[in-house]
Amino acid sequence: MSEKFDVIVVGAGPAGTACAYICAKNGLKVLQIERGEYPGSKNVMGGVLYRKQMEEIIPDFWKEAPIERPIIEQRMMMLEKESAVTLGYKGLEWGQEPYNNFTILRAKFDQWFADKGVEEGVLLINETVVTECLVEDGKVVGVRTDRPDGDVYADVVVLADGVNSLLAKQLGFHRELRPEEVALTVMEVINLPKDTINARFNIHDNQGCTIEFFGEATKGNIGTAFLYTNKDSVNIGVGTTLSSMIQAKLKPYELLDQLKNHPIVQPYLEGGESQEYLAHLIPEGGYHAIPKVVGNGVLVVGDAAQFVNSIHREGSNMAMASGKLAAETIIDAKAKGDFSESSLNQYQMSLNNSFIMKDLEKYKDATHTFEHYPEYFKDYLPFMNKAVGQFLTVDGTPKKDKQKEIVRELKAKKGTIRVLKDVYRVWKAVR
Ligand SMILES: Cc1cc2nc3c(=O)[nH]c(=O)nc-3n(C[C@H](O)[C@H](O)[C@H](O)COP(=O)(O)OP(=O)(O)OC[C@H]3O[C@@H](n4cnc5c(N)ncnc54)[C@H](O)[C@@H]3O)c2cc1C
Repeated sequence: MSEKFDVIVVGAGPAGTACAYICAKNGLKVLQIERGEYPGSKNVMGGVLYRKQMEEIIPDFWKEAPIERPIIEQRMMMLEKESAVTLGYKGLEWGQEPYNNFTILRAKFDQWFADKGVEEGVLLINETVVTECLVEDGKVVGVRTDRPDGDVYADVVVLADGVNSLLAKQLGFHRELRPEEVALTVMEVINLPKDTINARFNIHDNQGCTIEFFGEATKGNIGTAFLYTNKDSVNIGVGTTLSSMIQAKLKPYELLDQLKNHPIVQPYLEGGESQEYLAHLIPEGGYHAIPKVVGNGVLVVGDAAQFVNSIHREGSNMAMASGKLAAETIIDAKAKGDFSESSLNQYQMSLNNSFIMKDLEKYKDATHTFEHYPEYFKDYLPFMNKAVGQFLTVDGTPKKDKQKEIVRELKAKKGTIRVLKDVYRVWKAVR
């Protein structure tokens, strides 16, 4: 493989494929290298794909992409041992074009998306690991792979190798991730007949529902769990930051087992057959954990750049959007014939003007706040469950007395000043 390419993209997740597809569509010679047997074979996602960013790459993609269900309902459940406070939105308009978002299975979707790149001329090589970036005179000039004679050269290398980007670390762009900056998430795909899913989630064939769980789902630790509907399976998963796992001595598979057996969750899954068990890290460090993303002859995109908004569980869309911005920068750099860091810095500027940096900056202190003040998950969620339960129980007590009792309990537990401080802190972190 001594041929030279315009672009080498490492990784065939949504970030890498978005970049490879756009570059090839614009006439560049693109090599994409994926370590998995095929794109998606190693990739894990709860399963919500956002329409907007994908549509900006392939218009009307849903007409041919292997999507599972358009999501028409999103619920949030604050779980306690035997209760849940539920918030949600159901919008029938989301069940029609142009849709809002979809559930997908990554093994199918990533393969389809990468094939679209191949149709545009991307040379995709699977089952090949990029072991290092080749650097000459301070410029990345290609990559070394684990194939015999596996050095390949290009004007630009795009690192789309996921959350624990060994290649970005090798270049000194990335420091070691801290345990509080990543969540370890385990999930299972459980087969269920389509009609059973429809009945249990109160939806029709071409409608999907997502449920996010907090509180008891992670044993009061920072983190979330999810249950998403596919066509004839559901995805259920749970994750907490690595630091919480270590501190609380949690075992991920035990957390998932407990969630599946929770009396409010179990009826959704009854009679289902486990099809697949997966585990993966999610970047949760947000704005403060973003590494250097531009160098001489190199760009970093997607999870490798830590572009995940964990508050809104957006990752795949940030991956695609950053892949697209990287591609646009490379196309302009090719026209100028300049792949230096200052030329490629256009990518950084585009990122700064995009929703990616704006959203990550908005929530820059959110994960850290919840990590440092565990009472939000440990104390407030159980209290909210109890308060709502008490308030809605009809036992002859006047509502005003109930209200007073709830406020009295909260004051006794926390004190007024403390509650006000806690509310202010959260408002500050997410405002
Ligand atoms: C359990 C879970 C649930 C999630 N739920 C959602 C959700 O509902 N919605 C959402 O938008 N986001 C979700 N995310 C986040 C989302 O999955 C990621 O943000 C997204 O996949 C990032 O895409 P990426 O292309 O940057 O990285 P990845 O998808 O991780 O792709 C990286 C690719 O690079 C390949 N690779 C790595 N190293 C090498 C190497 N050295 N050589 C060759 N190939 C290499 C890998 O095999 C992989 O194919 C979830 C993540 C997890 C773990």
